Amino acid sequence: MHKAEVISVGTELVLGEITDTNAPFLSRELAGIGIAVERRGTVGDNPARLREDFLQALSRSDIVLLTGGLGPTPDDLTKETVAEALGLALETDELQLRRIEDFFRKRTLPMPEDNRKQAMVPKGCTVLYNENGTAPGCWIKHGSKRIALLPGPPREMKPMFRQLLPLLAPFSSGVILSHHLRTVGLGESRMAQLAEHYLDLTNPTVAPYAKDGESYLRVSAAAATREEAEALCRPVLRKLTELLGSYVYAVDEGLAQTVTRLLRAQGKTVALAESCTGGGIAQALTELPGASDVFGWGVVSYANECKQALLGVPSETLQSHGAVSAECAMEMARGIRRLSGAAIGLAVTGIAGPGSGGEAKPAGLIFLAATDGDRSLERRLETGRGDRAHNRLYAAKQAFDLLRRLLLGI
Ligand code: ATP
Repeated sequence: MHKAEVISVGTELVLGEITDTNAPFLSRELAGIGIAVERRGTVGDNPARLREDFLQALSRSDIVLLTGGLGPTPDDLTKETVAEALGLALETDELQLRRIEDFFRKRTLPMPEDNRKQAMVPKGCTVLYNENGTAPGCWIKHGSKRIALLPGPPREMKPMFRQLLPLLAPFSSGVILSHHLRTVGLGESRMAQLAEHYLDLTNPTVAPYAKDGESYLRVSAAAATREEAEALCRPVLRKLTELLGSYVYAVDEGLAQTVTRLLRAQGKTVALAESCTGGGIAQALTELPGASDVFGWGVVSYANECKQALLGVPSETLQSHGAVSAECAMEMARGIRRLSGAAIGLAVTGIAGPGSGGEAKPAGLIFLAATDGDRSLERRLETGRGDRAHNRLYAAKQAFDLLRRLLLGI
């Protein structure tokens, strides 16, 4: 299998000011056509370091893809550095120059002289045209090796990558296909322990990872065709699903999507009463198109007065148990269900942190409740962390899980 390497160029990437989304995109796309990305690197806009990293990458990989640093400003030096390292002169691509002039003419803007530099490409390369910006990309042949230069902005880079597909085809050896078995409510290490015997498989490979309060198993197979890769993954996914039981909520699909699908299939709606998540559950639900089929009412009841006035939480509950309690969560779920007429009421109340609510109420103590009138479920979480963002996200994920369990009768 041919090996590729991705180098993301940009000082803002190295400084952590922006997150690199290009390299993950390229890794996924290349895996999809059977080209393995074995290394990824990040380097600032510094020609000496870029040159060093590039030549190293070229010495060990068949294909090197670089993104970023193709802009018109003096610090954009990827093209110049790569051309120099390969001993290639830069020459003006007339078609590209006309395209850049057109780009400015259409916007009735004068073309800065610096942009002329963007029409310069390494001699003998294949130019990749930029439909969404001024920097062209390049595909360079260097002996048996290939180099792709792509612009940094993802909205320019992604469409340009499509032009690369036919050029990459001769390097493709089948496909690498991945499925993600998604679990909720199970820590990553516990999940890995349960799936221990599968982690040594070679095709498909099974790898655990955690993300956004959930734990996943990535099942990846390499094969000549997509169908063959699917056939390798299928039995392993089935066995892992049996093994992990009700912790598994879906393959590939997100949690909010799974819950929405279940609600729709059962013709039910959910109404939300959120305290510490501040509308985060509603946000995740309404991100999906067609959310109005299953969701119409949500209350952010942050203050006790709101819990009482809108949701009808009795003052005795608040006085004897406090707002952060199983009793309050259940009253909130009942209250929003009554108020909205939805089939299910779902509520969350807790201490997001970093501060605690006293000794008995540490940061990360969260109560969830769900009720459909007949059946009620509740859950107490104690994350043991004062990390506000994590606690809020974790609470929302767990709330979806509670709803899923109510819907499935688990
Ligand atoms: P431009 O013509 O816009 O200058 P460029 O090819 O020179 O394009 P950069 O200057 O390196 O690209 O980056 C421009 C912007 O593109 C960055 O500020 C950032 O917003 C985005 N960008 C660059 N690289 C990446 C990346 N790897 N992942 C996500 N976004 C990126």
